[in-house]
Amino acid sequence: MDKWSVIQYLEKRAEDFYKLSDKIWENAEIRFKEKQSVKDYVAFLKNEGFSITVGEAGLKTGFHAEWGSGKPVIGFLGEYDALAGLSQKAGVSVKEPLVKDGNGHGCGHNLLGVGALMGAVGFKHYLETEGKTGTVVFYGCPAEEGGSGKTFMAREGCFNQLDLALSWHPNNCNMMPPGPVLANDSIRYSFTGKASHAAAAPEAGRSALDALELMNIGVQFLREHIPSTARIHYAITNAGGISPNIVQPYASALYQIRAPFAPELSNLYERVNNIAKGAAMMTETQVEIKFLKGTSNTVLIPALDEVMYNNMCEIPNPVERADDIAFAREIVKTQIPDGRVPENVFDLKPKNWNKSGNIPIPGSSDVGDVSWVCPVSQCGTSTWPVGTAAHSWQAVACGKSDFAHKGMLYAGQIIAATAIDVCNNPEIIETAWKQLKEKTGNHPYHCPIPPEITPEILEAETT
Ligand SMILES: [Zn+2]
Ligand SMILES: [Zn+2]
Repeated sequence: MDKWSVIQYLEKRAEDFYKLSDKIWENAEIRFKEKQSVKDYVAFLKNEGFSITVGEAGLKTGFHAEWGSGKPVIGFLGEYDALAGLSQKAGVSVKEPLVKDGNGHGCGHNLLGVGALMGAVGFKHYLETEGKTGTVVFYGCPAEEGGSGKTFMAREGCFNQLDLALSWHPNNCNMMPPGPVLANDSIRYSFTGKASHAAAAPEAGRSALDALELMNIGVQFLREHIPSTARIHYAITNAGGISPNIVQPYASALYQIRAPFAPELSNLYERVNNIAKGAAMMTETQVEIKFLKGTSNTVLIPALDEVMYNNMCEIPNPVERADDIAFAREIVKTQIPDGRVPENVFDLKPKNWNKSGNIPIPGSSDVGDVSWVCPVSQCGTSTWPVGTAAHSWQAVACGKSDFAHKGMLYAGQIIAATAIDVCNNPEIIETAWKQLKEKTGNHPYHCPIPPEITPEILEAETT
């Protein structure tokens, strides 16, 4: 049996996977609440002969499912969380919530998880049929959106057994990523001052809002002296009340700091902290700095990405045969101001942007933490028409379409074929680890979430 038989096997079984993905789409559960989604995965994986542990790394909606033994040990990273407020009917090209204020799969994680599952099931089928050794580990990773599920899992050593891990993300084109996503820290800065009458006794007051404003101004000046690929943004979460005649005794902001390389981010974090402390000193207030969560940058591994890209080029893209291209055209229309729809509403030519340079992607993902622990490769496949952005109602509307299903099938086939190639050419694993060590400058993995932070604390702090 060669990898082409596995590619066909997945195609034959595609309907089973489409059904599971649709079910996850319908439940649309947000971070740390993905109970039904986990149940559906567990039932499916049990049927496939995997042994399953739910409650991975203390995460109630995290799990891992394992099959086989010996080397290579290959991980498949699945996600299934939705986004709050993005409820949307499927298959319609107007914004129309399915449930008022409900959740929706705006990042396509209903497809992501099941596509990764197809990779795992395909690879298992290969090992089983060929009688080869190898361990297939499918990870149910909760709360990618705002919860850093994989970072908690990496902190607890869940990925330490792996030779490598594979995944993908729904996209509006077929591609290998152009560069790493950024390492990302979330921090709450809370200032405490002293209230007083702002007109009658201003000298008795110490303004926490002044401190917060001075901190923000300090950070604006800092921007000139940080790497151009770094990012700092904030939201004022407590401005100290609505009364200008009271000196504001409390004020707080939620900051996010991002940089292309995790060790560089620790340095930036300290610099922002110093500004906060300086602002507190200037205003005679106190500042509490609470680190909430972080994710590491992704480390790209050219040796693995090459294998995945070659499979992307070799495997025929089934989206071309999707039966609802007219719907895709309607979706594209909603995103083009002049309504002119390009002839090709899908961008299907595989791109290996990783080869053309190392351009950081100004976003973040908890896959970054896995990629510091073991070599990781992930592709993007076309599940959405051109111009469709993640986290949009259009992405939710496309989540059960035939073209989304077929983009997912394509991703599952690419992932399974990549695992098979690696299994038959173990020297790729050796090169991948060498590249991981080079790219991280031999820095050991340092989990950005400190040990005292639990998912429960994070949930309470960020919602
Ligand atoms: Zn997202
Ligand atoms: Zn996503």
